[in-house]
Amino acid sequence: MLRLTEIKLPLDHEPEALRDAVLARLRVAPEDVLDITVFRRGHDARRRGAIALIYTLDVTLRDEAAVLARVAGERHVAPTPETAYRLPAAPPAPRLRPVVIGAGPCGLFAMLILAQLGLRPILIERGQIVRQRTQDTWGLWRRSVLSPESNVQFGEGGAGTFSDGKLYSGIGDNANRIRKVLEEFVAAGAPEEILYLSKPHIGTFRLVSMVEKMRAGIEALGGEYRFGTRVEDVELGPDRAVRGLHLSDGTFLEADRVVLAIGHSARDTFAALHERGVFMEAKPFSIGVRIEHPQGLIDRCRFGPQAGHPTLGAADYKIVHHCKTPAAEGRAVYSFCMCPGGQVVAAASEPGRLVTNGMSQYSRAERNANAGIVVSITPERDYPGSPLAGLAFQRHWEERAFIAGGSNWNAPVQRVEDFLAARPSTRLGEVIPSYKPGVTPTDLSLCLPDFAVAAIREALPAFDRQIRGFAMGDAVMTAVETRTSSPLRIRRDETGQSLNTPGLFPAGEGAGYAGGILSAGVDGIRAAEAVAASLSAGALVA
Ligand code: FAD
Repeated sequence: MLRLTEIKLPLDHEPEALRDAVLARLRVAPEDVLDITVFRRGHDARRRGAIALIYTLDVTLRDEAAVLARVAGERHVAPTPETAYRLPAAPPAPRLRPVVIGAGPCGLFAMLILAQLGLRPILIERGQIVRQRTQDTWGLWRRSVLSPESNVQFGEGGAGTFSDGKLYSGIGDNANRIRKVLEEFVAAGAPEEILYLSKPHIGTFRLVSMVEKMRAGIEALGGEYRFGTRVEDVELGPDRAVRGLHLSDGTFLEADRVVLAIGHSARDTFAALHERGVFMEAKPFSIGVRIEHPQGLIDRCRFGPQAGHPTLGAADYKIVHHCKTPAAEGRAVYSFCMCPGGQVVAAASEPGRLVTNGMSQYSRAERNANAGIVVSITPERDYPGSPLAGLAFQRHWEERAFIAGGSNWNAPVQRVEDFLAARPSTRLGEVIPSYKPGVTPTDLSLCLPDFAVAAIREALPAFDRQIRGFAMGDAVMTAVETRTSSPLRIRRDETGQSLNTPGLFPAGEGAGYAGGILSAGVDGIRAAEAVAASLSAGALVA
C-alpha cells in the first residue's frame, strides 16, 4: 500500500475527485487502483472563502513496486507505514495480580492491555459506575448538591467523560499506541470517523456507553473492577517497594505492581503519597476563566462565507498572547480545551470550592462556543516551597470563586466589557451563560490573582485582533478555571516506576505525564507495557 499526503481538494468536491487526484498524483490508469482508504482528513481555513480539504490517503495498487519505482523521490508518496499496535510478549503469570488505581482513560487502557496480556488486573476506583455517576454529576448541575466521591472528576471514565471528547494530541507515537486507543474506542462504539479526522471528537453521551462497553470487554478477559473504593494509603516494605494498598472499605489489598492513574484532582491521595515519601515535584499549570461567545461569531470569523458548512461543523480556535505589561510580564495567556457549540460545566470535586471546565455533545449544536482563557503559572514564581503548594494555590482560588458566586454553587460571571473597564457586572447581555446550576454577575478580580486579571485584560484586545468580536462587550467570562493540568509530577524512571518507590507506576494526567483523553490513554498503555516488562524481567528494578 502507498500513502499519499497533502492531497488538497475543494470543500464541496465530488466523491470521485479523490480517485482522480490519486490517478493524477501516481500517473496510473483507473484499473491500476484497487482500493483507496482515507487515513486522515483535515481542512485548511487560512483562505476564508476558499477552504480546502487536505487528505492523506492509503492506496492499494495492482503493481505497487512499479509505481513506487516511478515516483521514487517524490515528497508526498511513500509506502504506508505499519499502523497496527503490537502487544508486548505476555509475561509469566505473577503471584499477585497487577492493580490499577483510577478508571479514567489512563487506567482503562492500562487495564485493557494488562487484561489482553492475560494478567487479570484489578481496578480500584473511588467513584461510581458511569450511569450512577451521571446521576450524581447532575445532582450538582441541577440541584446544587455535590457528591464529593462521584462527580465530573471522579468515577468510571475519569475526568473526560462529561466533556467535548476531543481526541487529538501533540504527542509523538512510534509504537502506534494512538491508533490502538482510537481503534478500541471505535470497537466500543465511537464513530469510525475518529480514525481519520484530524481533529476528532466524541461528545459526552457516547463516551458514557463506550466506557461501559470497554468495562464489559475487560471483565470478559478476567479483569476485575471495584467501584466506590478509594485507595487511602500505600504500604511499602523496608526497601520502599510496594507491598499493597489500604482501601476505604477497611481492607488491605496485597499488591507489588500498581499503576497510579489517579488524575489531577485526587488531592487527598497526592497528600497521602507525599506523606509516604513518594518522590514528587511541583510543576507549572495555568489559572483563568471560561469565556463564552455566540458560536456563529466564531464560525463566521474562521470560515467566512462557508460558516455552517456541514463538513466543517462548528469552528474551534486556538489563540495565545505573550504579555508585556509589568503586572503580567512573562506570562502567556492562551485558549484551553475549546468546546465549540458546548457548555461551561461545574467541575468541582470538593465542598466549597468551585471550578469550571467545558463539554459538548457530538453534534456541537449549542448556541455558545466556550474555551478556557488561562494564564501560565510556575512553582518558582507563584507557589514555591512544596510539591503540594500548587494544590493549596488551586484550593484558595476555588474557594474565592465559590464565595464570589454566592456560596451556593452558582458561578461568578462578568461581561467582557465590564471586566475590561474594571467594574463589576450587574446584568448579562446578548450572551447567556450556559453554566448550571446558575450564575452570579460580579467582579472576577475577586477570584483571580492580580497578575491573571492584568494578563487577561491585556490579552483580550489582542485576541480580538485575531478573532474579530472576541472582546465583544457581552461575551461572558465564568470563573474559575484552575485544573488545566496536574499541579505536580510524580517522577518515574526508564522502567516506568516511581523514582524511589519500586512497584509504583505513576501514569496519566495526575502524575504529570499526560494532558487529555488521548494522551492519558496512550500513557496507560505505556504503563501496562512497563508492568509487563517488569514481570518479564522477574524482579522489580528500582
Ligand atoms: P482521570 O480521567 O482524572 O481519572 C482518574 C481516576 O482516578 C478518576 O476516575 C478518579 O475517581 C480515580 N481516583 C483518584 N484517586 C483515587 C483513589 N485514591 N482511589 C481510587 N480511585 C481514585 N481532554 C480531552 O482530551 N478532550 C476533551 O474534550 C476534554 N474535556 C474535558 C472536560 C472536562 C469537564 C474535564 C474535567 C476534563 C476534560 N479533558 C478533556 C481532560 C481529560 O479528561 C483528562 O486529561 C483525562 O481524563 C486524564 O485521564 P487520567 O486517566 O489520567 O485521569
